Amino acid sequence: MSEQIVTTVQEVQLVVPQRKSFLEYQQIPLWKDVPLEQWEDWHWQVKNRIRDREQLAQIIKLTPEEDEGIKKSNGRLAMAITPYWASLMDPNDPNCPIRRQAVPLKEEFMDSPHELTDPCAEDRDSPVPGGLVHRYPDRVLLLITDQCGMYCRHCTRRRMVGEKRQAALSSQKLDQAIEYIKSNRKVRDVLISGGDPFMLEDEALEDVIIKIRAIGHVEFLRIGTRLPISLPQRITPELVAMLKKYAPIWLSLHVNHPKEITKRSKIALDMLADAGMPLGSQTVLLKGINDRPYAMKKLMQELLKVRVRPYYIYQCDPAKGTSHFRTPIAVGINIIEKLRGHTSGYAVPTYVIDAPGGGGKIPVGPNYVLSQAKGRYTLRNYRGKIYTYLE
Ligand SMILES: *Cc1c(COP(=O)(O)O)cnc(C)c1O
Repeated sequence: MSEQIVTTVQEVQLVVPQRKSFLEYQQIPLWKDVPLEQWEDWHWQVKNRIRDREQLAQIIKLTPEEDEGIKKSNGRLAMAITPYWASLMDPNDPNCPIRRQAVPLKEEFMDSPHELTDPCAEDRDSPVPGGLVHRYPDRVLLLITDQCGMYCRHCTRRRMVGEKRQAALSSQKLDQAIEYIKSNRKVRDVLISGGDPFMLEDEALEDVIIKIRAIGHVEFLRIGTRLPISLPQRITPELVAMLKKYAPIWLSLHVNHPKEITKRSKIALDMLADAGMPLGSQTVLLKGINDRPYAMKKLMQELLKVRVRPYYIYQCDPAKGTSHFRTPIAVGINIIEKLRGHTSGYAVPTYVIDAPGGGGKIPVGPNYVLSQAKGRYTLRNYRGKIYTYLE
């Protein structure tokens, strides 16, 4: 069957087991006997995540930097990699973007100047500690779990995310958060995040959605997730059908490299888009991973092909232990310069810095207004040619 035919939830179920290419994981000795039905079961994927050095060494050739990073990461944002994500890693290339986002390096345990535990000062703006962040006038961030499919090594919320914490937000805290939203009529937009909200079982997630949908003044609901990319098996027909009942729900996906858009993740994204969910992407600018304009342009174009509209590129927040991922701001500005005008406008997200200290997201980018005086704007276009606009 050709790829275009796979467009509905039912067809996906039929087609996945028939495709030979979906058995590629069996070439990795650790999983050679795992049948496809098991591989496709997201609970199996979660249960069988790679958590220690011995397992990982069976999949990739570990470098000394990785070896030390894994040993040290035991307490803080412990390593956990879904078999699906691990199967995409290049076993011989330590610079593989899939691998670098998932495998700790010893550099993670060196704190650098200007790095902070809570880089965007979220905890200060939390009416429900660890559960709700209210920073902007009309919208809130609701953190319903601290678990993820895979723990990104560049995580900005590493102070509160990870396996050894409390898992789902307690029902008491959730109720507090819901009460807060109810009593603040200005809140018209709720962003459910975490952790990864799709780590909850369907029923638990539905319970949260129902509670938010019951609040009359909340008119915009979105969910931030990486699972369609890091654990696409999670996007089951049941989950999609449940979400569809509460439409419109917008999804913000975390995607950093073209390699993350695979045949398998495309199926998950297709299911979500076919169900009518608007999809947007958030990308973290990461040194050695997506900091070249070419790689970023490719990513943005690949996202459009799977109906994901690029939304934000984030400057990598100064969270403790992430300095090896951070680029100068000029790198991000140059990427936007190389996108705007050079490719579809839809492929150009907004590059933002989430202000340290809690000022929110601040857009930064190339300057196209060269001067402005008495109704006369001097502008430059994407090629550097100069134009005058008279008001
Ligand atoms: C990013 C963010 C939002 C959502 O911001 P948008 O620009 O509307 O996507 C809301 N609250 C907090 C605390 C955030 O960090």
